[in-house]
Amino acid sequence: MSIPVIIHGAAGRMGQTLVNLALHDPGLALAGVVDRHTDSEKLTALDCPVAGEVGELSPPSGAVVVDFSAPEATMHLAESLAGTGLAAVVGTTGLSDEQSARLRTIARDVPIFWAPNMSVGVNVLLQVLPDLVRKLGEDYDLEITEIHHNKKADAPSGTAIKLADCLARARGWTVSEQGAFCRQGIIGPRPKKELGVMTVRGGDVVGDHTVYFLGPGERIEITHRAHSRETFAQGALRAAKWLSGKQPGQLYSMPDMF
Ligand code: NAD
Repeated sequence: MSIPVIIHGAAGRMGQTLVNLALHDPGLALAGVVDRHTDSEKLTALDCPVAGEVGELSPPSGAVVVDFSAPEATMHLAESLAGTGLAAVVGTTGLSDEQSARLRTIARDVPIFWAPNMSVGVNVLLQVLPDLVRKLGEDYDLEITEIHHNKKADAPSGTAIKLADCLARARGWTVSEQGAFCRQGIIGPRPKKELGVMTVRGGDVVGDHTVYFLGPGERIEITHRAHSRETFAQGALRAAKWLSGKQPGQLYSMPDMF
């Protein structure tokens, strides 16, 4: 039996990739598309209901909303899901701390899966990084760079923040205390307890992240490059299948699915 999915943010870059993959996946049925641009030809040409909000659709019970939109839209969606029997996979990044906390609270009553990066590679990287941090020890300075296309709204990327959180935890630090997101002027010697997270924007780069371990006389650089948006979309649709039928209670993420 195929799982009904609704794509939220369907006219966008990720939304279009998700729609195309969902249409060709026999395990999924496209039950509707949602975007503020309801008159977009990208949506009206599809053989499924188009709406400006999920509440305007009549989705079959058990449908999963896959959201790649913008923080305000994601929160509006999440608030609207209680009591509907719908679940949501959220890929939107740039949520504030307050919005993240609220999403966690809503997930007590609504099945929600949230990951700032849905690729297998980045999520395996997140599992092995703590071991590297511990084995290399405190002599190695930790830095992250991220590069994205010139239309990306949020900075640093959700993935860079997640990577920074992973490195910081392995050191017993926090990103809010040790994170350095901007350097300019006479900054002097680099403090030992600092974790740099630097942003580059331009062109059509889908998403590159490099983690640096800068030690005495050597350095290790680990780079993940996303070749296309399909890698994220495949992960999100896999998450939709995994989430279907799950009980609420916690905010699910990639480690739960793996
Ligand atoms: P985009 O700007 O191309 O698309 C966003 C879409 O959401 C647009 O069509 C827009 O009209 C729609 N939208 C915005 N506000 C809305 C609202 N209130 N109601 C309905 N629709 C609304 O952006 P994108 O490149 O597709 O990225 C979308 C999000 O996904 C970003 O936050 C991005 O960082 C994130 N992202 C996450 C991953 C991941 O693996 N988790 C991967 C890539 C991108």
